[in-house]
Amino acid sequence: MKKATRAVALSILFTCACSSASTTPEDWAKVKTPAPGDPNTIGNYTNGCVQGAEKLPDSGPGFARYTLRSNRGFGHPNLVGWLKRYSLQLSENNLAVIIEDLSQPRGGPMPGTHESHQTGLDVDIWYYAPTANELATKTPAQVLKLTQKSMLGQDGRVDPKRMTQQEVAKIKAAAQTPGVERIFVHSAIKVYLCKTEKSEKPEDRAWLRVIRPWKNHIRHFHARMACPPDSPDCEVQDANPEGDGCEEAMDRLTKGFPTDWFDKSAKPELPSSCIDVLHAPDPS
Ligand SMILES: [Zn+2]
Repeated sequence: MKKATRAVALSILFTCACSSASTTPEDWAKVKTPAPGDPNTIGNYTNGCVQGAEKLPDSGPGFARYTLRSNRGFGHPNLVGWLKRYSLQLSENNLAVIIEDLSQPRGGPMPGTHESHQTGLDVDIWYYAPTANELATKTPAQVLKLTQKSMLGQDGRVDPKRMTQQEVAKIKAAAQTPGVERIFVHSAIKVYLCKTEKSEKPEDRAWLRVIRPWKNHIRHFHARMACPPDSPDCEVQDANPEGDGCEEAMDRLTKGFPTDWFDKSAKPELPSSCIDVLHAPDPS
């Protein structure tokens, strides 16, 4: 091979290797269909993707999707199935939820705010929602006119007029669902939930272990499902600390968070099989 030709060949090789290994959030956002194949979650919640995702309908018994970003209504079937069952169960007591972002059709990083929501196992759910009967009368355009409500008052603590027994019941029902591994809420909200659970029995307080104190999350909670059994390449997270985590929540509220928890400098490459998921042809 001549020197010049070899240089061109090498540069093509190099270019191809580069473009297949790195992707941008916009690449993932452009794709409108799930990757074909059996459901499979790959990687971890902040660096991964999903094959065989399902779309959550825009509405159903006890729920409506807030469809401002309509391309973010996809999840592993475990997540979508749970959301339908959970909402149906709430609707039997005339409660409902407004569901915002799940994942993009093939997961992956999103342009904008979310660090996680990459593997079809995360979902944001508003604390506030109209009753199930009211919500059932609303069109998608009317749902888009609703606004999230902060659960905190001016003093930075939970306002019980906003976070009523109904909001608490919705969070508790989610936390008691097998397969829901973590629910992120603002630290002040976890402290409040700890106080409203009057029982001292460990078994009655077990649901609080699932509730994780976090920053923000004053208008919606973030529920995260465990790695599905059908997904051997899904990275399992550490288990939540033992106990109800109420002391830790008070510490987070008063002392804040270790800064290295939010260090974004070392961002690993996506798992290489996610590149195949991104480029898989649409099912015909
Ligand atoms: Zn979220």
